[in-house]
Amino acid sequence: MGAAEKRQYDESRHKTARSAPHAAVTPRGILVAAPLECENPREGGLSYDPFQRISLPNALARVKDERSAVRFARAYGLLGYADFLNFQWQDLTLVDRRRMFDDPLLDEGQLKELLRSLDDYGDPMPWLLAQARSVRLAMELIEAIGRKEFKAVRDVVLRHTLPHVGSDQKSRPQLLVAGGPSVKWFAPGRGLLHPDMEAMRARSAAYLIEELVNPNVASLRWQLFTPAYRGPNELEIELGFEHRALFEVVWWHVANAAFGRRPGTRVRLCELETCRAPFIVTDERQRFCPADYTYTDKRTGKTRPGRSRCAALYQKRHGGQSKTEKP
Ligand SMILES: [Zn+2]
Repeated sequence: MGAAEKRQYDESRHKTARSAPHAAVTPRGILVAAPLECENPREGGLSYDPFQRISLPNALARVKDERSAVRFARAYGLLGYADFLNFQWQDLTLVDRRRMFDDPLLDEGQLKELLRSLDDYGDPMPWLLAQARSVRLAMELIEAIGRKEFKAVRDVVLRHTLPHVGSDQKSRPQLLVAGGPSVKWFAPGRGLLHPDMEAMRARSAAYLIEELVNPNVASLRWQLFTPAYRGPNELEIELGFEHRALFEVVWWHVANAAFGRRPGTRVRLCELETCRAPFIVTDERQRFCPADYTYTDKRTGKTRPGRSRCAALYQKRHGGQSKTEKP
């Protein structure tokens, strides 16, 4: 990204996110943008427009432990748990003054409790991992529905369930899902799991996708905003979403993939046997997880996608690959 372009992103603040090249997990299990002893925590961070970054859900769906979470934050920044709570807090104080905005997710008591329990300003690992799992579940469901493979829906749900002991002391397979800053157990229900309910599978899967997506995009707001300065009389007011935290934008991409009526919003599974991660297709030739990064071709000056790790690994294992595969 050129200096002028970078400045433009920095200035149009409603639409920016920032990578965290010094991200680390604290001893208390919170992913922070930089540890306290870090001298220049913002150094090297890049601002970008997350609404343009379709690779966000792909990358989050592959997060499964601290190491991969740190890798995600270094490329894309924090998911924004603490940011989100802070914004909620500001809204609540507004409510007291104006009584016009009712938050669907949290009441004041819950919010106070969550803010108090946050030792460091960042993403608590259990929450982050639940977010990543939920994104992966939603994308795998979208992929199965897209292929009209309704039998596969049940397998997807079963693969994601964990044994959970309910209030009646009985253990049942349930899904651990993240909605906004909350994490909750969710019972998949007969429509998704019962072998006799095959005819209802697509609809049940669609409901589950709604349950996963909607609470996570509930706080995005349409806003008019003035874009960055381009020249003395160059002004075109823009309309777009204002986000509070990065996870909302990740889910906005997932919502677009579920809606699926725009080009480049189909979901596929990586063909590398050991990966099988879902990703949003931006080029029909893609068979493997696309790389998270782009590079500038020195010869042509054009921006190109980076080399896919999974494609490279597949080639190493199987020797060669289809000529149609994109690097
Ligand atoms: Zn892959």
